[in-house]
Amino acid sequence: MAKEELECSFCGRKKPETSLLIAGLDAHICDRCIEQAHGIVIEESKQSDNSDLSAELMLKKPKEIKGFLDEYIIGQENTKRVMSVAVYNHYKRLLQPATDDDIEIQKSNIIMVGQTGTGKTLMAKTIAKMLNVPLAIVDATVLTEAGYVGEDVESILTRLLQAADYNLEKAERGIVFIDEIDKIARKSDNPSITRDVSGEGVQQALLKLLEGTVVNVPPKGGRKHPDQKFIEVNTENILFIAGGAFDGIERVITKRLNMQAIGYSAMKTEVVDKDNILQYIIPRDLKDFGLIPEIIGRLPVLTYMDPLDAKTLRAILTQPKNAIIKQYQKLFEMDEVEFTITDGALDYIVGKAIEYKLGARGLRSLCEEILTEAMFDLPSSDETKLNVTKTYAEDRLNKSTLKKLKAVS
Ligand code: ADP
Repeated sequence: MAKEELECSFCGRKKPETSLLIAGLDAHICDRCIEQAHGIVIEESKQSDNSDLSAELMLKKPKEIKGFLDEYIIGQENTKRVMSVAVYNHYKRLLQPATDDDIEIQKSNIIMVGQTGTGKTLMAKTIAKMLNVPLAIVDATVLTEAGYVGEDVESILTRLLQAADYNLEKAERGIVFIDEIDKIARKSDNPSITRDVSGEGVQQALLKLLEGTVVNVPPKGGRKHPDQKFIEVNTENILFIAGGAFDGIERVITKRLNMQAIGYSAMKTEVVDKDNILQYIIPRDLKDFGLIPEIIGRLPVLTYMDPLDAKTLRAILTQPKNAIIKQYQKLFEMDEVEFTITDGALDYIVGKAIEYKLGARGLRSLCEEILTEAMFDLPSSDETKLNVTKTYAEDRLNKSTLKKLKAVS
């Protein structure tokens, strides 16, 4: 075939009419057809992505969900079980085929109550990771009702859209974690609430979102503006997980338990575990704390986090899939340094985290203080081993604490 007779085997355009003609074995394809074909491939893969998502979601049974959580989160057995069921039901609801039996499965939004640093955010993150859905983490304290200075509740959805790379379909199946929900409790006799703007207005504003509604969302965040283009986001299938420390709620629970104990003293057989009062929490306690009943109704799955004891903290250091110690091992490995740490040193770190009331979050900063010197020196030395003992840890921590004390004085 003469050169000028070459044509695209797909659209028939002659070579001179194309910018590029690529030769295959027995055929040719032009630049335009390549572009078109590329578009089709993208479109198809988007669709199969979505159906993959559905298939995957259906496959994960509560036990499998919990199994996944177990890899990353130590303890918190009750919450893990409750979450696994709630998440399973939520996505089952989302994937249910349309039926005409009038049975509408309600949303299973979740509320987690537990001290800071006990793994609430980690729980939401791990669920999102497992499901491969976008996650937005928002702080309830920055939210205000429309008209006040601060962020409208719609900004939550802007964050989710951003987390979903503006893929609306993905965002609408995503998870929103609202942290510090307790800080928007109604100002009551609760002394820890010092907000001026009534939290109740924010709670009201959140209601519709939690229940499922279509919201006009300014894509880039910020406050609504008439000139801005909105994206319509349906929150019907978005899973909302709220978390909060609810400082002082133990008193509310204890008071109720005591009242019950008086009422049913003859029947009372269970002994109250005073070290973990949160396990007795019921929705009414949230109401007494200052959440409005409508919010509590829209967060029907209530669960609590256990306080972290020494044994749990110790396990957090070494056991999860991306445990802190494993991370340091990997970091040192990159410099061809074998990093080991003794049981004594691990116990010492846990002890300090408890002593300074730092919780799990403190473990990381303690390790950082202890290892910074080695991480600075070893990459430029010939050392191939680092064994951290209790004495080593003690030494480095004393040094850095001393330095800080000197800096303050
Ligand atoms: P919260 O949201 O309850 O304040 P986070 O989830 O932010 O707490 O936890 C802080 C850090 O502590 C996490 O990044 C994680 O490394 C660690 N952590 C807390 N609880 C656990 C746990 N139960 N298992 C594993 N790691 C935990």
